[in-house]
Amino acid sequence: MVLGRFIRFCLNAFPRPVLQRIASWSVPLLGLVYYGHKKRCPICGKEVKKFLPYGYEVSREDALCPRCLALERHRMLWLYIERMHTLEKCPVLLHMAPEVSLKRRIEHIYKDCPKNYITADLESPLAELHFDICKIPLQTKSIECFICNHLLEHVEDDLKALQELYRILKPGGWGLMLSPVDTNRETTFEDSSITDRHERAKIFGQYDHLRIYGRDFPQRLSSQGFKVREVRPQDFLSATEINLYSVRHEESIYILEKK
Ligand SMILES: [Zn+2]
Repeated sequence: MVLGRFIRFCLNAFPRPVLQRIASWSVPLLGLVYYGHKKRCPICGKEVKKFLPYGYEVSREDALCPRCLALERHRMLWLYIERMHTLEKCPVLLHMAPEVSLKRRIEHIYKDCPKNYITADLESPLAELHFDICKIPLQTKSIECFICNHLLEHVEDDLKALQELYRILKPGGWGLMLSPVDTNRETTFEDSSITDRHERAKIFGQYDHLRIYGRDFPQRLSSQGFKVREVRPQDFLSATEINLYSVRHEESIYILEKK
């Protein structure tokens, strides 16, 4: 409880680039509290009694890997990438808002073709290129796949961002998309007049989220031309694996394809 509150305080008190700089040495120290072997991180191999609590508004137990900083969704995404052998042929990949844990593993896959792995973000020190996802400075039909994990909900014009991802993707290309979706909500809710960080946190779930997606999320993705397929953790992981790797049942990966 205390650890959860402390992590929640840090998440809300420090800007994201600052957190990205200090987390690599501070989180492993916190992880000493959960020494054990009940859970395993598939990204870095670390075993723990349980993962660290994590969350901006409400702390989720068993979430953050103390060694590589992977969250439940990063572990799910990595397991999907690994099992589907999706990156082994070294396709040109754009990784938006790269997460430190996934980036390290993907760089290893691309060690013989590093130019094919492009990382980008508005401001993250982890990214090689810095740009607005609504104005991607890459040529039309120039990439073969992308990863866009928990980014769209931060973007003012998410439909324009989707248009841009569609534009730069080659026909036959694909993307892995994840965003928080409230399945109790039929349609996505956004209101640009809500700018107060406490109001945003209360309504959208996090101080820098600009909307909360509803069950119409797949339609929103397909509205810009993509063919959309939803993959749930239980579609490719056993119940034992979901527990061992601490993956959340309620999070899905959306596979976007350009025909
Ligand atoms: Zn890890």
